[in-house]
Amino acid sequence: MLALVKTAPGPGLQLQTVPEPEIGINDVLIRVHKTGICGTDLHIESWDPWAQRTIAPPLIVGHEFVGEVVEVGSNVVDFHAGNLVSGEGHVVCGRCRHCLAGRRHLCAHTIGLGVGRAGSFAEYVVLPMANVWHHWPGIDEDVAAIFDPFGNAVHTALAFPVLGEDVLVSGAGPIGLMATAVVRHAGARFVVVSEPNAFRRELAARMGATVVIDPRQRDLHAVQRELGMVEGFDVALEMSGNAAALRAAIANMAHGGGIAILGIPTAEIALDINEIVFKMLTLRGIYGREMYETWYKMTVMLQSGLDIRPAITHRFSFRDHEAAFAAARSGDSGKVIMDWTA
Ligand code: NAD
Ligand code: ZN
Repeated sequence: MLALVKTAPGPGLQLQTVPEPEIGINDVLIRVHKTGICGTDLHIESWDPWAQRTIAPPLIVGHEFVGEVVEVGSNVVDFHAGNLVSGEGHVVCGRCRHCLAGRRHLCAHTIGLGVGRAGSFAEYVVLPMANVWHHWPGIDEDVAAIFDPFGNAVHTALAFPVLGEDVLVSGAGPIGLMATAVVRHAGARFVVVSEPNAFRRELAARMGATVVIDPRQRDLHAVQRELGMVEGFDVALEMSGNAAALRAAIANMAHGGGIAILGIPTAEIALDINEIVFKMLTLRGIYGREMYETWYKMTVMLQSGLDIRPAITHRFSFRDHEAAFAAARSGDSGKVIMDWTA
């Protein structure tokens, strides 16, 4: 089969012919249809310090995908050839306290698809059956291809109640864009999106933001006044990994507010803890998706009218992977999808 492989330490990825993966008794073999490019894939492609610490080549990269079941192991009874599925990219241990209690997203021994095991940028991928999500009928395949980052968006957006609340979204990358639509769907009053990139600000408006600002030009206190807000933001979704964005969120929160932090900073961030204490804020880290409550929520919100398709801006054949990665890296893009059947 063809696969996109990090063949050796250093920048770049190679489209190579590799052996088709073999399945164990608990595994599902999936013919990949479409994949999404994540920031993680960009880190691995460019071989940044995180990738150097984390990745052991050779490795097939990628973790966001939709595809069709072609074969199942002898223990697998719930999946059948032809099922349209996506993969939960966090393969958990199944034995720790949290796994045994059903809180699998809290497993401390998670192995990442396309990070610690062969990924989905390939014609075929294998996952344990516990990591396979069978899509409900009627799903759009482009949307199904990005259930992994859509799940990051939903997990973060629903970390605190948003019905009737005023929500700040910092960072309108693909995940911030989807989260904007989710909090709007979930009944937020004002959704203020802060994003320096003009292309993404435009997309954020299409995703349902009440106000979109360039944080270099406008202060959030002024936006609050303009909207007639008096208490501050009830909920903030940190989706930039940027220190200034996190500090601006803290400075603009209402007392008792909640900040869900998904963005991954590249260095330590100094914060004024006094502000967190006296405003009685809750800061909550978010990693991955809840298995499978987040997947259920994604599915039913799509069925009740949530539309995340405007966040998908580019589509390529996997053969044009260099152009696809360039589009994802440019910043003038939302979600970038590669088709593995064309
Ligand atoms: P992205 O890098 O495409 O988006 C981040 C956005 O933040 C960019 O559009 C950037 O212009 C914007 N930004 C930069 N400085 C800003 C500032 N001062 N104020 C407001 N916005 C600012 O990333 P993404 O794919 O949308 O993911 C969002 C974040 O979540 C990233 O940090 C990513 O590493 C992280 N992430 C975390 C998890 C997890 O499980 N915790 C999973 C996936 C991604
Ligand atoms: Zn575990």
